[in-house]
Amino acid sequence: MTDTFDIAIVGGGMVGASLAAALDGLGLRLALIEAVPHDSQASPSFDERTTALSNGSRRILETVGVWGALASAATPIRKIHVSDQGHFGFARVDAAEQGLSAMGFVVPNRAMGAALWGRIAGMPDLRVFCPAEVLRVTANDRSVELDVVERGIASTIRTRLVVAADGIHSAVRSAFGVDADVRDYEQTAVITTVLPQKFHDHVAYERFTASGPLALLPLADGRCTLVLTLKPAMAETALTWSDAEFLAEVQRRFGFRLGRFLKVGRRVPYPLSLSRSHKTSTGRCVIIGNAAQSLHPVAGMGFNLGLRDVASLAELIAEHRGAGHAYAGHAYAGRAYAGRADSGDAGMLAEYDAWRAADRGGIIGFTDGLVRVFSNPLGLVQRLRNVGLLAFDMLPPAKAALSRLSTGAAGRVPKLARGVPLR
Ligand SMILES: Cc1cc2nc3c(=O)[nH]c(=O)nc-3n(C[C@H](O)[C@H](O)[C@H](O)COP(=O)(O)OP(=O)(O)OC[C@H]3O[C@@H](n4cnc5c(N)ncnc54)[C@H](O)[C@@H]3O)c2cc1C
Repeated sequence: MTDTFDIAIVGGGMVGASLAAALDGLGLRLALIEAVPHDSQASPSFDERTTALSNGSRRILETVGVWGALASAATPIRKIHVSDQGHFGFARVDAAEQGLSAMGFVVPNRAMGAALWGRIAGMPDLRVFCPAEVLRVTANDRSVELDVVERGIASTIRTRLVVAADGIHSAVRSAFGVDADVRDYEQTAVITTVLPQKFHDHVAYERFTASGPLALLPLADGRCTLVLTLKPAMAETALTWSDAEFLAEVQRRFGFRLGRFLKVGRRVPYPLSLSRSHKTSTGRCVIIGNAAQSLHPVAGMGFNLGLRDVASLAELIAEHRGAGHAYAGHAYAGRAYAGRADSGDAGMLAEYDAWRAADRGGIIGFTDGLVRVFSNPLGLVQRLRNVGLLAFDMLPPAKAALSRLSTGAAGRVPKLARGVPLR
């Protein structure tokens, strides 16, 4: 059986499901193909982690109708505190100083899964294939066919545009022959929650240590999400420690700003690398989210960047559709698509690539630079990084620039990030 769609999104994780929500109401026939149900323990996207969302991301989620279901699970970040273990320099960013009520929000990934999938569940023009796998991709210049198997039943999806939102190891990106540069950071993030003696007071902490950064993000119930970055061998050992041993090590690295750490949750390891695809579109395929770029979580920017991929792409698709670039009709694909705008239009995808290039390059460079500078034990770099942190604390424009960078407020800001709906 062959079904015809305007857009097929492969991957219904944080980014793919957000795109489906953003495209609602545009009169497009949409398919979403996801391998693992969002509420399964095995979901690689909606798992134990929490995500720090920028204000821009909150606004996008609000505009596409997701924030309402997420707000009660979100904890505001009022201040960010950055320090370097064993060194003098530290920096603070205060939302109030920036004229903001919060620097961002921390949301549990599982709550995000429930909110996103709850939002798209009722979309009349969306057909969800889940759990489903793409077995084969056949592309020509008019359309793409995806052979899909869902619960043992095979079918074919014909579409004008395929969106690769299938994560760092994107099979769709590979099927279209697009390579990615991958650099292993030789670090593993161990994620868990800790309960400190003192209330976190809505401060997010980032502390650089010799073996990698440590982040504490505030949670609604007074606990904090801990992201402890370690050398891989050390991370393996840390998973075998008793709770008391683990907490003692965290205490040693973080100090006593929040008093003693009293309890720790389940520990889960994530090996870290930088992956960057050579292109963000090719033929009738556009590559977004982790499939396009997967970052070190040090600055908490991966999903925020992916969500801006979503907002920009959805805006261009909406504009292109509104401009009435109807497909002229071809004997092969013409009947099904007659009179409909071509959602895989090459000009539109070229515009997407150009729009995303600066934001993408800037955030990848910033995040990678942060990891490199703070992993470098050389004396000069050590001194510079202290000076850097102190200067950063004394220079309000530098802080404002960081805020702008992390909210994506530089360059052309997508409508959804400004609170403007697409329809
Ligand atoms: C430890 C850690 C902490 C992080 N913290 C933050 C943070 O605080 N803030 C932030 O902005 N970002 C953060 N990130 C980054 C963020 O998690 C990612 O940017 C985000 O998950 C990307 O979402 P995605 O949907 O592109 O990819 P994924 O989350 O990987 O989702 C891909 C989806 O595609 C599905 N899939 C894969 N292959 C197929 C296939 N062949 N067919 C069908 N479906 C398929 C998968 O099942 C999955 O649901 C963090 C990352 C890590 C590792």
